[in-house]
Amino acid sequence: MSYTVALTGGIGSGKTTIANAFAARGVDIVDADIIARQVVEPGQPALKAIQERFGAAVIRPDGSLDRAALRQRIFSSAQEKAWLNALLHPLIHSETRRQLALTRSVWCLWVVPLLVENNLQQLADRVLVVDVDRETQLARTMSRDHISREQAEHILAAQATREARLAVADDIIDNGGTPDDVVAKVARLDQRYRQLAGATDQD
Ligand code: ADP
Repeated sequence: MSYTVALTGGIGSGKTTIANAFAARGVDIVDADIIARQVVEPGQPALKAIQERFGAAVIRPDGSLDRAALRQRIFSSAQEKAWLNALLHPLIHSETRRQLALTRSVWCLWVVPLLVENNLQQLADRVLVVDVDRETQLARTMSRDHISREQAEHILAAQATREARLAVADDIIDNGGTPDDVVAKVARLDQRYRQLAGATDQD
C-alpha cells in the first residue's frame, strides 16, 4: 500500500488530464469512477441484487447494467436511491481499499471526483484539489462533452462548490494555464509526494 493522495475537482477541472500526467511519471492510479463501474459488472453480486429489485428493465440485452434506466428509476424515489447507495457504497469502499492496498509505486493517486460530496477525505493521506475558475470549467466542459452552457451549469450546480473543495485541500493545483504549465506543476508535486511518502516510511 502506497502513500495515498486523493485527487478531486469539479467536472471539467482537469482531473483526467492531471492523473494522466502523474501516470506518465510512474505513479499508480486508482480511479473511483472505474471502481463504481466494476462493482456492477456482469457476474457481480450487486448487479444481481439490482436486477432483483428493479427488474429486467434495468439490464441491457448483453447483460450489463443500463445506467440510464436505473437513474430514471431512482430519480423520483428517495427510498430506492437510499437502497442503492446502501448496496453500493460498502462495495465501492472495500474495492477501493483492496485496489489501494495493491499499489506499488512510491505514492499513489486516488482519483475521486465525489470526494467532498461523499466525505471520503479520511481515506487518503493527503488531498489534492484541481482548481479552475468557473468560466474556464464551464467552457472546457461544454467543449469536451458537446453540451450547452445551461446543461454544464446544471451539472456544476449539483456538485460540491469550489469553496467546499478548497476547504479540504492540503494542496491545490491551479489548472487555469496551459497544458504545459500543468505538466510542470505535476512534476513539482510528484517530487513533493515522493518526499512525503518517504518521510512517513510506509510499506
Ligand atoms: P475532468 O476529468 O476533471 O472532468 P478533464 O481532464 O477531462 O477534466 O479536462 C476537461 C477538458 O479540458 C478536456 O477536454 C481537457 O483536454 C481540457 N483541458 C484540461 N486541462 C487543460 C488545460 N490546462 N488547458 C486547456 N485544456 C485543458
